[in-house]
Amino acid sequence: MEEKNKILILPDFIANQIAAGEVVQRPESVVKELVENSLDAGATDIAVFVKTAGKQLIHVVDNGFGISKSDLELSIRRHATSKLVTAEDLEEIRTYGFRGEALASIASVAFLEIRSKQNDDVHGWKLVSEPMKKEVLSPINMDNGTQVFVKNLFFNVPARRKFLKSDLTEFRYISDTMIKFAVIRPDIRFTFYDNENLIFDVSPSEPIKRIENILGKNIASSLIPVEYSNDVLKISGFIGEPLIAKQSKSGQYLFLNQRSIVSKALNYAIFSSFEHLLEKKSHPFYLLNITLDPRQVDVNVHPQKHEVKFEDEKYIYNALMKAVGQALAKSNLTPEIVLNKQDIEAPFSKVSSDDDGFIVVNKITGEVVSGQQNNVDHRSKFSSQPSFQKNKDYSLEKSENKNFDISAFDFMFNKKNIENQNLGVLTSSESEKPLHMYWQVHKKYICTQTDKGFLIVDQHAAHERILYEKALKAINKEFSYSQDLLFPIEVELDASRRLLAKELEKDIINLGFVFEEVSNGKLKINAVPLDVMSGSEAESLVGILEQYEEESRLRESTARDNLAASFSCKAAIKTGKVLSGDEMKKLIDELFNCAMPYVCPHGRPVIIEFTIPELDRRFGRMD
Ligand code: ADP
Ligand code: MG
Repeated sequence: MEEKNKILILPDFIANQIAAGEVVQRPESVVKELVENSLDAGATDIAVFVKTAGKQLIHVVDNGFGISKSDLELSIRRHATSKLVTAEDLEEIRTYGFRGEALASIASVAFLEIRSKQNDDVHGWKLVSEPMKKEVLSPINMDNGTQVFVKNLFFNVPARRKFLKSDLTEFRYISDTMIKFAVIRPDIRFTFYDNENLIFDVSPSEPIKRIENILGKNIASSLIPVEYSNDVLKISGFIGEPLIAKQSKSGQYLFLNQRSIVSKALNYAIFSSFEHLLEKKSHPFYLLNITLDPRQVDVNVHPQKHEVKFEDEKYIYNALMKAVGQALAKSNLTPEIVLNKQDIEAPFSKVSSDDDGFIVVNKITGEVVSGQQNNVDHRSKFSSQPSFQKNKDYSLEKSENKNFDISAFDFMFNKKNIENQNLGVLTSSESEKPLHMYWQVHKKYICTQTDKGFLIVDQHAAHERILYEKALKAINKEFSYSQDLLFPIEVELDASRRLLAKELEKDIINLGFVFEEVSNGKLKINAVPLDVMSGSEAESLVGILEQYEEESRLRESTARDNLAASFSCKAAIKTGKVLSGDEMKKLIDELFNCAMPYVCPHGRPVIIEFTIPELDRRFGRMD
């Protein structure tokens, strides 16, 4: 009888095909492996041509150090690699390849031709390989470097071929990969052709210039540089200003030692530093490279090498958060910047209107700026607007509590008028200095003059930001934020709140609450955080817990962040509250002492600044 379960050693060819299933999943994998080989060979000029999304042909040409005749024969053997692994210093990247699997795998599922010439050689060598056949080696005249042709990928594995997606989709995979190479290696010239169409041809340049060439001016002009380093790692690159965040994750490039990687955890680290700057569900742009001692990471996790293992992932997670957080804090994110940046390209766009010719629209804000921009009498335009015809009465008597119901525009136009009536708050007694006044608009916004122009602050959002930062510091035990209550109060918590309070107990105590459980569900509160408004002590804890539940439904964030945000939301002054001059001044002063005054904990802007140049331009004062 024949033996049934006899163990066989797989013939090389079958083993290669199996390996190919892992290494070469689609044309894009071939492109990636070949370009990595070129980079490993020290090439400074790499050209990639694909036909029908790489299904028919993938052709990669480099000017690297080439392959000798004997290595050429070996190169398509499994586990043949010339790349030795040595301990290098931090700055140096290790080679992309090390498994010696790519060429062998490709050779088992396609026609493969490799031509290569090393610098010292008179001529090069050409290796032609076909699955299941003996390869043929012959001399060839060619430039220094290596040229690889991969034809009819998966022609002998119909199942795989069928599994490929449409040309458009497969091409997109390839171009995504090419884009990643191009943005992380601005030192290399990359040429990329689809059929006969040039997709890009980029010469070596500064990183930011390369980003502009590949990803466009829009992105390149909205980036915040990131530079962070310590003894263990270095994080460098760029993050996008919140305004270029997208609904999709397409603008997220993360590299480890210049190798593109995927890591949900690290992605989340970056996202959470952005969190309060972004709307729900939007994804920040980033292009970051982590430089790490190769001994700290295990890149040998997945044959495609996208996923990596860190010895201490938590450490890298925290470092990324810090790096991005610092970069964001350093950058000034007032919307004013956005407007200014567009000074280079005028933001106005002419749009034809029904009546007389065209109107001018601000492309960024979408607002109608004026009629014909140059030869229109702006005064007559404005005087036809009802709000400016109305002769408002700004007298103090009529507007109680110094709550002036006037618009910022009214103020600009009637500045003298208002100053004469000496409204608002004087912070400077020297008469020659500009008056620093604060005026409240519709019990909602505070306006004040700045060195550059004037700004408008959302009173609730501003107070939220101030309290949020205080609360975070308190929770992190940086200062004591507690005030004793003269008369302790009792509150009752339902079961789920009770659980939540237990879960957050430590942080709640650090925030400034002192309480004891008197009976099941009943708490006696002896102290509350300082900024809890008098009169609302009783409901403060319950309100915060409620808000906390709500917040955690809306967004993912850390418990401490969420607690601080919930507290600030509950304790902040509300829209509709009339503020005295002193209160407004204090609020604005404290706001500018914040680490991040420009956005509230929910990501909405706190401040909008109008600069004089911006105003001049809008008013047609081009001088
Ligand atoms: P690995 O890159 O993991 O070493 P590969 O199968 O991709 O394995 O390549 C096998 C070997 O062929 C490499 O180690 C290298 O010596 C050589 N090689 C491949 N492509 C090139 C190239 N473009 N220039 C120089 N040498 C190359
Ligand atoms: Mg390789």
